[in-house]
Amino acid sequence: MFSPHISTANLPIERTALPLPPVDQEAESVDVQSVRSFSEQDWQKHVVKIPKNGSLGGALASVNVPASITYQIGKLKNSNLLTNLRAGDTLTIWIDKHDNLQKILYPKSKTLRYELHKQGEQYQIQTIEEPIQIRTEIATGTISDSFYLDGKKAGLSAKSIMNLADIFAWDIDFIRELRPGDTFKVIYETRYLNNEYIGDGNIIAAQVTTNNKHETHNAFLLKDGDKIIGYYNEQGKNLKKAFLRNPVDYVRITSRFQPKRYHPVLQKWRAHRGVDYGGPIGTPIHVTGNGKIVFRGWGHGYGNYIKVQHAGKYMTVYGHMSKFGKFKKGSWVKQGDIIGYIGKTGLATGPHLHYEFRINGKHQDPLKMKFPAAQPVAKKYATEFKKQSHLMLSQLDRLSTDLRMASFE
Ligand SMILES: [Zn+2]
Repeated sequence: MFSPHISTANLPIERTALPLPPVDQEAESVDVQSVRSFSEQDWQKHVVKIPKNGSLGGALASVNVPASITYQIGKLKNSNLLTNLRAGDTLTIWIDKHDNLQKILYPKSKTLRYELHKQGEQYQIQTIEEPIQIRTEIATGTISDSFYLDGKKAGLSAKSIMNLADIFAWDIDFIRELRPGDTFKVIYETRYLNNEYIGDGNIIAAQVTTNNKHETHNAFLLKDGDKIIGYYNEQGKNLKKAFLRNPVDYVRITSRFQPKRYHPVLQKWRAHRGVDYGGPIGTPIHVTGNGKIVFRGWGHGYGNYIKVQHAGKYMTVYGHMSKFGKFKKGSWVKQGDIIGYIGKTGLATGPHLHYEFRINGKHQDPLKMKFPAAQPVAKKYATEFKKQSHLMLSQLDRLSTDLRMASFE
């Protein structure tokens, strides 16, 4: 019996690498073979753990390397690589049979290590980075439980699940709107070190269907070199809106936009032409859209407040701040930048942010506004984005065909 629902819950996790994009070699590796001039077999190896307030000199002294050698290493121009030690770091030190220091290994992270080698009478310190391999993988699934659990079942890490929810945050409420039968397909990067999986990378493309498959949401990553520009749909439309719905993260709305209300401080009827967000003093306040700070200072009633002029006719206002962020009057700010902190300056009974959204000077209810989309794909990326996104879209479409066939077996 044909079922329009693509059930992939019981399929094995797909970890097939797609033919694109190419493997990324992030770092060069250094050939250390040439500096190993004689046999390490006769060397004595010591593993020294750096104590609190420990130093390279202390570590070397503990294995009887004279202070003159520490001094010699300290004079190398990149000596800081070996002297910036932290408590708990481990140095492996090799001493030859004539009691000469031959080599130090200092692993800084899984992918980075510093090595000191003796060459003749000189020492040199090398930086050695393990290349990280980026692979491309796919995950597909149908919502049967929650997006989080079904995403996990499909092989996505918690980080990728959060990323996916972020990418579609303006279009889909992943907690309330996804229903059993909704589907997701993700093409994403995974990172490997020496063939060992170390974590997920970027999401390259994703497709989510909602509303009984009547609605399809696509997202394609646009990068400039290593820099992420954003996620856009197949028409190049930005998946972000020009404004965040809320200027604070964990919202407790204490007073909504009301044409008329009784003001608790003024003790009279007055319109409330903004939204109040209650929260502890010091809670960061994010600017809701890109723009320019046109006022930063004191206003009667508003206390410490900031006014931001956005493209064209939009303006946002943030009041009662305890303290401003680093952006001064005249600064350009980007959506999400912290411009200040919740306080209770001005006419406020308790700590809260008073937030206003104005269009052509007219106050609007930001909780009910339909926000315009953020900037589409910039002209200079248009051709490349079109090519890449079409390629990705056909990959995503092919995935659905493959799955449908699989589900018939
Ligand atoms: Zn208010």
